[in-house]
Amino acid sequence: MLELRPNCECCDRDLPPDSADARICSFECSFCAACAQNVLAGFCPNCGGNLVARPVRPAHLLQRAPASTRRVLKAEGCAKRAA
Ligand SMILES: [Zn+2]
Ligand SMILES: [Zn+2]
Repeated sequence: MLELRPNCECCDRDLPPDSADARICSFECSFCAACAQNVLAGFCPNCGGNLVARPVRPAHLLQRAPASTRRVLKAEGCAKRAA
C-alpha cells in the first residue's frame, strides 16, 4: 500500500491525503508541488527518480487504510537542483 506521508520532505508543508499538491517518487518520498517544481526540478533528491502527482486516496477508504502520520523531513533541507 502506498505510504501517504503527511508532509513535504523539503519545506514541511502539510500534505493531507486528499491534497492535489502532493508529489511522490517510487520510494514514496513526498514533496509539495512547489518544491517539486521550483526546487527539485521534478526529481527526488534522495533517489534521483522522477516525481509524479500523488494519487488521492478516497476519504471513505482512509479509515481502513489510513495515511501515514510519520513526518519525514530532510534536516538540511533541499538544495536547489539545476533544471
Ligand atoms: Zn515543499
Ligand atoms: Zn525518492
